[in-house]
Amino acid sequence: MIAFFNGEYLPKEEITISPDDRGFLFADGLYEVVLCVKGKPFCLREHLKRLGKGAMQLRFSSADFMWLEEVVQELLHKNGLERADAVVYMQLTRGAAPRNHPFPSKETPLTVYVFVRPFDQAEAEAARQRGIAAITVADQRWARCDLKSIGLTANILANQQAMEAGVGEAIFMRDGILLEGSHSNFAGVKDGKLVTFPACHRILDGVTRQQTLALASSLGIEVALEPIFVNELDNYDELMVLATTMKITPVVQLDGRQIGDGTPGSVVRRLQEGFRSLELQG
Ligand code: PLP
Repeated sequence: MIAFFNGEYLPKEEITISPDDRGFLFADGLYEVVLCVKGKPFCLREHLKRLGKGAMQLRFSSADFMWLEEVVQELLHKNGLERADAVVYMQLTRGAAPRNHPFPSKETPLTVYVFVRPFDQAEAEAARQRGIAAITVADQRWARCDLKSIGLTANILANQQAMEAGVGEAIFMRDGILLEGSHSNFAGVKDGKLVTFPACHRILDGVTRQQTLALASSLGIEVALEPIFVNELDNYDELMVLATTMKITPVVQLDGRQIGDGTPGSVVRRLQEGFRSLELQG
């Protein structure tokens, strides 16, 4: 597999990362995951814009990463994935410098790493068709969840808990509000309205979330950006998680309790169908 590392295309096993890298020492970095459908990266620009916005917020020495568009195309080509379903992973860190909390000198180049790998959509598609079960977990993350930081310890612990419970996702809960998943956004359907927490420091404003909200509006489904309270779940007919590789996946059971009739509902089905058309358009 050929990957991109600091300006070079190299076999992945030849890439070496400095032990002084601030990603390694401090998790001082950002990442993005992009899905390629039959070789076409979906919403790549939106992902790169978010990366740039995050870099600006973290005061990285550069914040324009649109040039990675070309890198992604080149990697798909070099790895023979031009027509394949694939996943792109991109990571930036503040670079390598002797360990000190303050930023390194301005000349320190950012570390930029990108790889692609084939992605078999069969398992995720099966989950989209039948729906998944999920659990709720206490939100132990920091107060900048809007940044797609590589510091993911709380997300990893939550996801591991879900795996050990035999379910597909863990939903972070804070003050009785179901915010988002360990690696997905969270939404519900109440009185025919699509409800999801407003974009703020408590959640990542997911690209799939943005696409789904726009799609809902274009389908005439009303959108409400408001909290989903755990003690009001009886009012919800449908729940779902939204993320790049999961796309729109119905949640049919939460903490062992059945949602709706325990099968994917009509709103999620309409959204899934609309999403497929969006993907085909690119
Ligand atoms: N929220 C969290 C915490 C995530 O980690 C992710 C994706 O990794 C998402 C939401 C969904 O974001 P996107 O749709 O951009 O993949």
